[in-house]
Amino acid sequence: MLGMMSERPLLISSIITHAATFHGDAEVASRTVEGPIQRYTYRDAERRMKRLAKALLRLGIGRGDRVGTLAWSTHRHFELYYAISGIGAVCHTINPRLFDEQIVYIVNHAADRLLFVDSTFLPLVERLAPRLPRDCRIVALAEGEAPPVGLPLLPSYETLLAGEDDAFEWPEFDERTAAALCYTSGTTGHPKGALYSHRSTVLHAFAESLPDAIGVSARDVVCPVVPLFHVCGWGIPFAAPMNGAKLVLPGPRLDGASLYELFESEGVTYALGVPTIWLGFESYLSSSGKRCSTLQRLLSGGSAVPPSMVTAFACHGIEVRQGWGMTEMSPLGTTAALKAKHRALDPQAQLAVQAKQGRPLYGVEMKIVDDEGHAQPHDGKSMGELLVRGPWIISGYFADEAATRAAVEPDGWFHTGDMVTIDPDGYMQIADRRKDVIKSGGEWISSIDLENAAVAHQDVAEAAVIAVPDARWGERPLLIVASRPGCRPEREALLELLARQFPKWMLPDEVVWVEELPHTATGKIMKTRLREMFGIPKSSGQ
Ligand code: AMP
Repeated sequence: MLGMMSERPLLISSIITHAATFHGDAEVASRTVEGPIQRYTYRDAERRMKRLAKALLRLGIGRGDRVGTLAWSTHRHFELYYAISGIGAVCHTINPRLFDEQIVYIVNHAADRLLFVDSTFLPLVERLAPRLPRDCRIVALAEGEAPPVGLPLLPSYETLLAGEDDAFEWPEFDERTAAALCYTSGTTGHPKGALYSHRSTVLHAFAESLPDAIGVSARDVVCPVVPLFHVCGWGIPFAAPMNGAKLVLPGPRLDGASLYELFESEGVTYALGVPTIWLGFESYLSSSGKRCSTLQRLLSGGSAVPPSMVTAFACHGIEVRQGWGMTEMSPLGTTAALKAKHRALDPQAQLAVQAKQGRPLYGVEMKIVDDEGHAQPHDGKSMGELLVRGPWIISGYFADEAATRAAVEPDGWFHTGDMVTIDPDGYMQIADRRKDVIKSGGEWISSIDLENAAVAHQDVAEAAVIAVPDARWGERPLLIVASRPGCRPEREALLELLARQFPKWMLPDEVVWVEELPHTATGKIMKTRLREMFGIPKSSGQ
């Protein structure tokens, strides 16, 4: 017998309609590419989204068409998210920090029919124009007309909107319809596309709104510092209006001073971003002696959160929660929120729990398997590759059967490539990416653990550990350190710090200093590049 409940489709447009109707005066404040803050309400936002939807239809955009964006986190990008998906087309956010070849590949692979481009990125489009699809039209995200870019140029964004009115009903269609496309920036091979549906996006926004996940309420002022071109801004442009929270979009300026000024002027209570951003922000707070008067919580994910960062922010009265996820997971999979039983632990023991990547949100299934595919126990010790499955996790890559076959099992389990343990309380901890693992004398050494310990040294800005081939042990760890400006920690002092936490055989044999560590387009340390820099053969550590 089937239940007798309404099967209203889970469509993204219903989120903005809800916000406009029931949180109509909640604000969206956005730092524009031009500099000043643009401010309006969810009610105003939906009106402009409807105009944009009409303009897209007039330009011949239909169901399933891909529309690309090369844009910072602003109100216009927010409007594109809703207007494009609202008419059944696909919003393809392009990461402008990718290499030229990768951008050319993904625009061609996605077959984008239109590209909405911030003025900052028009020179990029002009440079790549000869290698982009000839029929791809460009709209500048601006008031006035843009200079020629080598591809057909349409009237500017504001001109298009001015030509429409907001008398428009969002169409209804199957909730499984594709809504957004985001390519992963793998360091090897072509980028691969994760194609989110309306259903997956709405369910992910529901799930991340839960208190132990991200937790968003109508009393919050939320700022996704993670750009809107990274996995749909981690879903915040959906979760904030769903819950009636004020949304603050930071535009292009993500340095400590600019973020501080924005958080203070807009009353931000909650911000989300990668550890590199938060390390910079913390260093700004410490060196300037400034205090945040409204900011209470940070969610940090995308790379491991060093425990020293949690402690440093606690001194500023700000709680840091770690989240883990992937482009292929919309992205949120886990958070390291404490359980009631952890309240009794001392601060150090609590910190050890918070340093783990965390426990899964309801909806995310997880298992760890060994090299033969056998499931491993959740004992906090047995390590294996993490496999995940769930309604906001990919079932395949967009138009890429080979990549799909390599990553997704026929029964839907997705190979994350992360080598992890899961403890009896359900907290998952990453030791390494599968291709970065260090095996010394048959034992694992976690590069993440060593890196976290090294950045606790006051003179260290960032640290990376990679495997170096060794005749006797197979592999040994090499520690590469970028120091804070004007500092140079002594090798001995660093090793002494590590020796307090690790047995001798796990300690790096060598420590080297570099000006800066290389990063990927999503802000992760680029270990493939480090291996090249130090002449380490490609097969090592793979
Ligand atoms: P991306 O799809 O670019 O977001 O990368 C996903 C990968 O980033 C994951 O498979 C992890 O290896 C890594 N990652 C994400 N969050 C964390 C975290 N909190 N700690 C450690 N690694 C993380």
